[in-house]
Formats: sequence, structure tokens, C-alpha cells
Amino acid sequence: MHDFPGDITIFEDQPYKNITSYITPGVHRVQKFAERKWAKATYQRFEELFREYGGEAGIQRISGYVLSQDEQYIIEQEENYGNIVHDFRWLEEKDMLQFTNDENKARNLSGVHFTTYTAEGRIYLPWIRNQTENYGVKFVQRHIETVNEVCDFTFFFVFGM
Ligand SMILES: Cc1cc2nc3c(=O)[nH]c(=O)nc-3n(C[C@H](O)[C@H](O)[C@H](O)COP(=O)(O)OP(=O)(O)OC[C@H]3O[C@@H](n4cnc5c(N)ncnc54)[C@H](O)[C@@H]3O)c2cc1C
Repeated sequence: MHDFPGDITIFEDQPYKNITSYITPGVHRVQKFAERKWAKATYQRFEELFREYGGEAGIQRISGYVLSQDEQYIIEQEENYGNIVHDFRWLEEKDMLQFTNDENKARNLSGVHFTTYTAEGRIYLPWIRNQTENYGVKFVQRHIETVNEVCDFTFFFVFGM
């Protein structure tokens, strides 16, 4: 944002405390292979924020598991983010006994363990808003009906419509 050559205005049609991102806990995971490039950049950014600000910015580091009886689903998890996140490893049969007493069930489960980040909207949104305002970004509460409304040469680039 500090490298952007110009003024930035962000339109929002309602107070940010009403929007989805404010109420949801965002766990970073990659569901589509095509999104890897952006997902990697996001993961690295969260890592920087966690190291520098941690909980103050609403970014937390968590480790956990994804389990499935469908091994192909787990293979796709590995393809999507196996080499983006930390601590990624396939679970062995003995690891599955953490989740079930039934050895047959354990044998039919596939799973991975990894470490990722969460962004807690209630903390992250006001924090990131404050950071952007410090860079001179303007927030304007206005409902945009069509892209033509902001294509009047006041703005050179329009994103996210
Ligand atoms: C229960 C739950 C759990 C979730 N868990 C996860 C998770 O673990 N990980 C994950 O990645 N995702 C998760 N999600 C999904 C995630 O929360 C959403 O994908 C994300 O919040 C969407 O962000 P957004 O910025 O696209 O939309 P929003 O947060 O809805 O923001 C949209 C913005 O655009 C503005 N806007 C919209 N229309 C107009 C208009 N016409 N004119 C002007 N401004 C406008 C709004 O004012 C707002 O500022 C979860 C969602 C839910 C409901």
C-alpha cells in the first residue's frame, strides 16, 4: 500500500461491524489448486504479521488435522497447500487412534497434520483499517450499484467490484 502511486478510496455499503468478515473466524486453508499463488502470499503475510504483532492484529497460529475416509480428498489437500504451510505431514495408522477406538475405522481414515494461521475479524478488521488509514487510505460509506458510478475519471483503477 505504501508503494501504490496514488490515493486509495475504499467504498463500503455498511459499517464494517455488520459484514461477514467481522464475525467469521478465518482459518487459512486452500480449497482450490488454482488459488495457490494467492494463498501462498496470504500465508506469508499472516506469518509476518504474526511474528511482528501476533494477537494484537488478531492473527493466531494454530495446528490441527484434516481427516477423511476419502484418501483422494486428502491427496488434494496436500497438492493445494502441503508445501505452503508449516509442519505438514501425513498421519500414520497409529495417529488415527487419537480419534477413534475402532481399529478398522482407523485403518480406513486418511489424514494430515499442519500448522496455519487464523485471522479473527473482530480484531483484524479494525487493526488493518487503522493501518490503512495511517497510509492515507479513505473509507467512504456508499452503496455502489454499477461500476459506471466509479468510472468517471475520478478513479484510475477500480478493484473488487
Ligand atoms: C460461519 C463461517 C465460517 C467461515 N470460516 C471461514 C474460514 O475458516 N476460512 C475462510 O477463509 N473463510 C471462512 N468463511 C468465509 C469468509 O468469512 C468469507 O469468505 C469472507 O468473510 C468474505 O469476505 P469478503 O471481503 O469477500 O466479503 P464481506 O466480508 O461480506 O465484505 C464485503 C465488503 O464489500 C462491501 N460491499 C458489498 N457490496 C457493496 C456495494 N454494492 N457497494 C459498496 N460496498 C459494497 C461491504 O460493505 C463490505 O465491506 C466463513 C464464513 C462463515 C459464514
